[in-house]
Amino acid sequence: MVDNNCIFCKIAAGEIPSTTLYEDEDFRVILDLGPATKGHALLIPKAHFADLFALDDTLGAKALVTAKLIASRMKKALKADGFNLVQNNGEVAGQTVFHFHMHLIPRYKGDKAGILWEPKTTTPEEMQEVERLVRGC
Ligand code: 5GP
Ligand code: ZN
Repeated sequence: MVDNNCIFCKIAAGEIPSTTLYEDEDFRVILDLGPATKGHALLIPKAHFADLFALDDTLGAKALVTAKLIASRMKKALKADGFNLVQNNGEVAGQTVFHFHMHLIPRYKGDKAGILWEPKTTTPEEMQEVERLVRGC
């Protein structure tokens, strides 16, 4: 349930201090030390799961409900104009801490946080290939 070499296990357990916006039996929500914007927070389960694919389904469902609750409070308290929920899985996808977490990122007009991607092009053939591969899985 807990990995002794994992920094987020230690933060979630309160063994390493953090600025905590919320805590319950399953989660801790802390401020990110390298924020994309003012108030950027991380929702961290107290139990260790490396990523989304390892995450317990019941806890995953509760994670989204909790993220919604805290994001709503943050949006109001910080007067944010919008909000991103970001969740990275795997090094290639930007994951640097291998303990499942969700980024709660308040957005402000003109903040230039740079979270969005540049849209590429696709083809009907590629879309059909993806459809066939995923639905056939
Ligand atoms: P990832 O890149 O894995 O999706 O996100 C990891 C996040 O954890 C980064 O945004 C990084 O700034 C944050 N982070 C890494 N180490 C610490 C830490 O010790 N304390 C806090 N509060 N945030 C951390
Ligand atoms: Zn962990």
